[in-house]
Amino acid sequence: TLPNLPLLSALASHPPAKAAIIHNSSRKAFDYSSLLRDIFRWRSVLSNLGSDPRDKRIAIMGENSYEFVVCLLAATSLPRTIAVPLCPSHTTPEITYQLDDADCCAIVTTERFKKKLAPLVNGRDFVIYEDVELPPSENVTVAKDPFDQAVETSGIILYTSGTSGNPKGVVIPNATLHAQASSLIKAWAIAPRDTILHTLPLHHIHGILNALLVPLFVGATIVFQFPFAAGPVLSLLAHEDATAPEISIYTAVPTVYARLSTLYRSLPPDKQASITDAIPKSLHLAMCGSAALPDPLRDGWAQLSGGHPQLLERYGMTEVGMALSQPLKESERVSGSVGKPLPGVYARLVDKDTLEVLYQSVGWQSEEWISEKPEGDGQLLGEIELSGPTIFKEYWRKPDATVGSFVTDASGRKWFRTGDIAGVDRAGRWWIKGRESMDIIKSGGEKLSALEIEREILSLVGVAECAVVGLPSPDWGQAVATVIVMQANVEPITYDSLKAELKKRLTGYKIPKELKIVEQIPRNQMGKVNKKTLVKQVWPEKF
Ligand code: ATP
Ligand code: MG
Repeated sequence: TLPNLPLLSALASHPPAKAAIIHNSSRKAFDYSSLLRDIFRWRSVLSNLGSDPRDKRIAIMGENSYEFVVCLLAATSLPRTIAVPLCPSHTTPEITYQLDDADCCAIVTTERFKKKLAPLVNGRDFVIYEDVELPPSENVTVAKDPFDQAVETSGIILYTSGTSGNPKGVVIPNATLHAQASSLIKAWAIAPRDTILHTLPLHHIHGILNALLVPLFVGATIVFQFPFAAGPVLSLLAHEDATAPEISIYTAVPTVYARLSTLYRSLPPDKQASITDAIPKSLHLAMCGSAALPDPLRDGWAQLSGGHPQLLERYGMTEVGMALSQPLKESERVSGSVGKPLPGVYARLVDKDTLEVLYQSVGWQSEEWISEKPEGDGQLLGEIELSGPTIFKEYWRKPDATVGSFVTDASGRKWFRTGDIAGVDRAGRWWIKGRESMDIIKSGGEKLSALEIEREILSLVGVAECAVVGLPSPDWGQAVATVIVMQANVEPITYDSLKAELKKRLTGYKIPKELKIVEQIPRNQMGKVNKKTLVKQVWPEKF
């Protein structure tokens, strides 16, 4: 008998023969009954790891596969056990940092990563999936008693993407994951009939929550296509191969949509036409998040999909799961905005200088202007603060960072300070302006959003990628500057033509004062740019 945890009881309630996970490459399907049975068998293997049964972190590395999911869920079902998913493509120093920081007592992996991880074992238990002799398979039931203690004491540690510094371990108990998943299922009407294509890394909230736990909670089917490649993904979305599963939901990051569009544009017209014709027939929800979605990418997807489904943009972070989302109804979405708080999410906008609360909203419940409503299409600007059952409780063994990132209001409610700046418009829609620490450029007394300027630069002909940054400047405090990557075989844009083009779109003080053309902008696993290191690489003389 397995303990009663929200996810395990959900798994047990789904039709046993329904496919939970399909590996696209082999078309191998694993149903809900085998998933539950294998979690049970792996649970007994994992329970013997480490020396202290009351306090364990188990690192898990695998490709996106059934095996990985089994080990992950088995670990999180043990009392006082935290699973730490590791990213196969991380470097040795990155992996070592996470193993040590999380103080893992064991590493579980597959044959494929044995060589990579063996030198990092350092006295830990080391389990190779294929080598384990599992206990015999039995009929498995989930306990009927009230929720197990593991709902609070167990869960996962996910590391933040490390965009703005060293990744921080975020402790997310099973109960919090349940609250996060429930909110998304409601907001996005995810249903058992859905088939979701999963191409995201599994060491990150987007891949764990949106694309894995959400479908498992409702009893939908997950299709793993690993590793991500634009060709097979486009083919799956257009259901080109009749023997392949038909995808109804896809969720990805902006760079993935960029790669799909680039591939699409390189195809002959008849091939393009058949893709554009096929996608809307099966796909009903395509979502994007984890970083800002520039207009050209949204337009690229619109061209590829023939306008439906539109990309649904949402805002989330490791510490909070998902927090803001555009509405499900396409006609109600406003491009560039990330919509409103998700069900159960408390969100407020706080003036960075005065610390006054300007606006407060509880997802799907209430909206309240504390300051005066903005006029016309204006927005009030401030930091996003979040509260409620979906918010994490602590950074792993970083009590100072934890304390520093929460504020308590007069009623005793704790609010997480996200460090992200947003605008809220009259209609209560949120617009992400970027991180206070990297994307908000303080120039000549103005606060500028790098994301807004990037959107304009990216829509210029020939520009493939860009990053807008603030350079230290004696005159301006910070001076707006941009790094641009041109599309292949395109002449680099000159500073004068950049300036002339942007003059048509932006007020003068937002136009970059410096331009550097580079071959490549370094990005992390989630396609994000650490601008603090980027500026130092590109303009070392300024520091
Ligand atoms: P670190 O905290 O280590 O610097 P990170 O913040 O990039 O890394 P994540 O938790 O993966 O790690 O990312 C969350 C951040 O991603 C948010 O705080 C926000 O800045 C950005 N983000 C997420 N969704 C969006 C979106 N739709 N638009 C703009 N930015 C987004
Ligand atoms: Mg962060």
